[in-house]
Amino acid sequence: MTLTEMRQILGTRGIQLTKSLGQNFLHDGNQLRRIVAAAELTKADKVLEIGPGLGPLTELLLAQAGEVLAVEMDRRLVEFLREHFNSKLKTQNSNLQLHHADALKFLRDEPRDWSDWKLVANLPYSVASPILVELAQAEHSPKLIVVTLQLEVARRLMAGADTDDYGVLTLLVQLRYQPREWFKIPATCFFPAPDVESACVTLERRAQPLLRRAQETVFTRLVKLAFSQRRKMMLKLLKQHWPVEKLAGAFAELKISPQERAEKLTLEQFARLTRLLNTSSET
Ligand code: SAM
Repeated sequence: MTLTEMRQILGTRGIQLTKSLGQNFLHDGNQLRRIVAAAELTKADKVLEIGPGLGPLTELLLAQAGEVLAVEMDRRLVEFLREHFNSKLKTQNSNLQLHHADALKFLRDEPRDWSDWKLVANLPYSVASPILVELAQAEHSPKLIVVTLQLEVARRLMAGADTDDYGVLTLLVQLRYQPREWFKIPATCFFPAPDVESACVTLERRAQPLLRRAQETVFTRLVKLAFSQRRKMMLKLLKQHWPVEKLAGAFAELKISPQERAEKLTLEQFARLTRLLNTSSET
């Protein structure tokens, strides 16, 4: 779909784009093909697309994957998509499902087994982080995530310890996923051009989970508390939830200084700390 075609569709239908819904449509064919290539699709793949918009990515996904489930919140776009993909949606063995819903609500209200799925999407930037955390914490997370989002968020997803970008989002997502390749997408490839820089990131689900499911809840509490005041010593912050003797013992066992701040600890250290703290003697 070219920029001219996009403008034409929006103009004919009198659709004014909504900034709060992150409606910056990707019209650059090369970038769209790069995103799809990163997902390494075959006809055996099932793809979840969040925010199909006018469907340029959906079109490519349908050509390469076996099944596409697209979730779009804007009724005007859903109506367009229903007409545009009419023939595909009508056939009995259609490989496209279209849902008119808020993706975050859809994911929360209808938990599914996504373990066999790939998420490929140009995400609405305002809800990109909660959507990724929701899927990363789902009982059965997608096996691959290829998402376009704000460059600043992409950097946080890929960050390592002891950097400014490293934080809660990094750890909650990296617990389940390993960041792979990424590339920037120039603002001129979108209509309208967003005010922020964009990037496409690939995240691959870890073959072996670092923690058991019950431990993951403790990990989330630990990470959120440890980063609640970034510049403070994390031991002081964690005392709000765990007995000080227990914390002191765990820090000593892991050779973490009592003065350490959260941003210095690696993901593996947070996972090991979780295992030590996840016992019945919590406060
Ligand atoms: N995939 C299209 C593309 O690449 O051109 C559109 C991407 S645009 C960045 C984000 C899309 O997400 C818009 O179509 C917007 O209406 C939709 N959207 C915004 N918030 C949403 C939500 N909470 N759930 C589902 N879709 C949403």
